[in-house]
Amino acid sequence: MSQRGAVGAPSRAALAAARDVFGVTALRPGQAEAVAAAETGRDVLFVAPTGTGKSLAYWLPALASPGLTLVVSPLIALMTDQVNRLRGSGVAAAALHSQLGPGELRETLAAARRGALRLLYVAPERFAAASFGDLLAELRIARFVVDEAHCISSWGHDFRQDYRRLGSAVSACGRPPVTAVTATATPRVREDISSSLGLRDPFTLVTGFVRPELTLAVWRCRRGDKRAAVIQALSEVPGRALIYCGRVRDCDEMAEALRAVGVAAAAYHAQLEGTARARAQAEFTGGRLRVVVATSAFGMGIDIADIRQVIHHDFPRSLEDYHQAAGRAGRDGLPARCLLLYSAADRSLQEGFIEDAYPERETVREVYRALLRAGRWDLDGAADLVPSLARRDVEAAVRLLEGAGVLLPGGEVRQLNGPPVDFEERARLKQAAYARLHQMMAYATSRECRHARIADYFGEPGAARRCSSCDNCLTPAGAELPVPEAAARAALRAVARFDGHLGAARIAELLRGVDSPWSRERPWARELDFFGALGGWDGERTRDVIAELVERGMLQRGHGERPTLTLTAAGRSALRDDRELALTIAAATPTPRPARQRSAGRRVGPRSGGAPVGDGADPSGDDLDAGGRLRFERLRRWRLELARAEARPAFTVFDDRTLRQLAAHAPRSVADLLRVHGVGPVKAARYGDAVIRLLREA
Ligand SMILES: [Zn+2]
Repeated sequence: MSQRGAVGAPSRAALAAARDVFGVTALRPGQAEAVAAAETGRDVLFVAPTGTGKSLAYWLPALASPGLTLVVSPLIALMTDQVNRLRGSGVAAAALHSQLGPGELRETLAAARRGALRLLYVAPERFAAASFGDLLAELRIARFVVDEAHCISSWGHDFRQDYRRLGSAVSACGRPPVTAVTATATPRVREDISSSLGLRDPFTLVTGFVRPELTLAVWRCRRGDKRAAVIQALSEVPGRALIYCGRVRDCDEMAEALRAVGVAAAAYHAQLEGTARARAQAEFTGGRLRVVVATSAFGMGIDIADIRQVIHHDFPRSLEDYHQAAGRAGRDGLPARCLLLYSAADRSLQEGFIEDAYPERETVREVYRALLRAGRWDLDGAADLVPSLARRDVEAAVRLLEGAGVLLPGGEVRQLNGPPVDFEERARLKQAAYARLHQMMAYATSRECRHARIADYFGEPGAARRCSSCDNCLTPAGAELPVPEAAARAALRAVARFDGHLGAARIAELLRGVDSPWSRERPWARELDFFGALGGWDGERTRDVIAELVERGMLQRGHGERPTLTLTAAGRSALRDDRELALTIAAATPTPRPARQRSAGRRVGPRSGGAPVGDGADPSGDDLDAGGRLRFERLRRWRLELARAEARPAFTVFDDRTLRQLAAHAPRSVADLLRVHGVGPVKAARYGDAVIRLLREA
C-alpha cells in the first residue's frame, strides 16, 4: 500500500465550504489531497497526528455534495465534541449513542430519515443490533467514515471488538465510498484497516509525523535519579511543561518534589476528584501553574499551544502513545523539547502492566476452577483459594474473568462449557503489546536519528536520515568502543542467514549464544558459526552493533512493530570483500546487567582484550573492600559538592556504577581512567585530575 499522488484538487464546493462554513482559507497539503480523492469516490486512508485537521478531510466532502455521511466514532466524548463543533458552524449533525434519552433518539432518527442531517455520528456497538441494519438500508448513506480506524486492528493499541463489525456494516449500507482516518497507524495496522473494511485501492496518505520544531531527546538515568533529572530538564527549558508518569503515586510525589523546589506544579490523574482535576487543568491553561504532572489521563481534549517541554518520567507503552503525548509540545509551531527519561527498570514496569492485563492461560483456568468449586467469588477471597499462585496473578485473572462476564457483580460464578475467554485472541493481543514495548525500547536506546526512526515506524515516506533537532544528530558522540571486525562480520552473517525473517533482538540473542526457548527448539541454530560469537557481550551492546550496521547502510530494518533485518547490497559486498570493517559503538552502556546467560561457541572479546573494566559489577557495592568503600564515600562527597556547585544532577558527573568502579580500581593515570565504564575523553579531561588526586590521597 503506497502513497499515490496526482489526485487533482478539491472541488470549488469543497473549498467554498472550507471558507464559508469553517473559516479556513488554505487547506494543508494532506487535507487537500484527501478531500480531492474522496470527492472522486475513492476510498481514502488518511493517517496524520492529532491536531492536524483530519476531520476537515471528511467534513468537506460531506458538505460539498448531497447525501448523508455516516461517521463511526469510538467515544461518546469525541462524538459530542465533533457534533458541537459542526453545529456551532451551522452544519446539521447529530450523534446516536447510549446516553441519548428516548426523545432525543426518536428525534435524531426522524431527522436522519427525512434527510435533514449531513453528518450522523454513531457508536460501533450500534451495528450489533439487527434493527440498525434495516435503518442503514433505509437511510441511503452517501459516504461511510471510520474515525480512530486503528481500533479495528488487534495490532493497534486501542483494539475494539465492535470495530470488527464495520466491514459488514459498510456492505449493509450498500458499499458507499469509505474514508478511514486515524492518528496512529503503523504499516501493519494500516493493512489490517484496509482488509477489515474491505477498502478498494485506497488513496493512502501518511503525513505530519516528523515535526522538526520538536527536539527529541532521551536521557538515560537510574530510576532513583529521575527526579533530579526532571528538575534539571525544567531548568534548561523555560515555559510551560507537561510531565507524564506511569503511576499515580509517582505523579503525586513528583508534583510535591517540584513544589518543594519552587516550581508551580500540580498532579493530574484519575484518582483525583473531578474538581481537583478541573482546577489543575484550569490553572495550567490560565498560566498559574507552570507544570502539570499527569498520568496518560491528561490530554484528551486539551489544546494548549505553547507547551515548551513534554517530559516522560516513565516509558509509555508504545511509540504511538509516545508520539501522541509528546506531540502536545510546540503546537504553536515554535521550538519545544520532548524528553524521555529512560532506565532499564522502566521495561519491567511496563512488562508488569502487560502481565497484569494478560494473565497466563493456566493461571486463569486454575482461578476459574477454584472459584467455580467455591461457588461464589470476591477479590480478596480469591487469592486465599489459590495459595499456590502469586496474589497479583490471581487478581489479574479475576479481573479478566470479571471483564469477560464469567464472574458476575453479585458474586455468582457462571458455569461454562468452553474456555472462559478466547485464549488465542488474548495471546495475540499480549504478543502485540510486547512488540509495541520492544519498539519503544528500541527508540530509547537508538543512536540513529530519532525523527527518522519515528517516520520509519509510521511509514511516513521521504524523511531525512539526519536532522538538526534530535539528540543523536546534535550531540557529538561520546567515547567510542571499537567493534572487533570478527564481531561485525558475525552480525552480518547472522542477518544474511535469516534474511528478512528475524528482528534485531533475536539476532542479538543468537550472536550472544543465549540459551532461549527459541534456540532450544532449533538445535541446528546452535551449530551455526555465528552462534555465541559475541558471547560475554551484554544485550544492549550487541544491539548497538546491529544498530550501527543499520546506520552504516549494511543492514536494513523493516517497518512497523516487528521490523525484521535484511542485508543490503552494501552489507553483502562487505561480507564478500576482505576490506577492513571499522565500526565503533558508544563505550558507555547505561543499563548494566550482570552477565547471566551462559554462552557457547566461539567468542570475540573487545579489542583491548577482556571485557571492559567492571562489566557486570555488582551495583550494590558489596564487591568493594574496606579501602574501596572508603574511596567510594570520598568520591561521592566530591561528586555531591561538584554537582551542587554546578547546579546539576550528580549522575551527570558520574553515575554510581562508575563511581564504584573508580573506587574499586583506583586508576592512577588518565589512560587507566579511560578504561573505566562511563568515563569518556570529555569527562576524563574535565574531572580526571581531580579524581586521580582524590584517589591518591584516599
Ligand atoms: Zn535526528
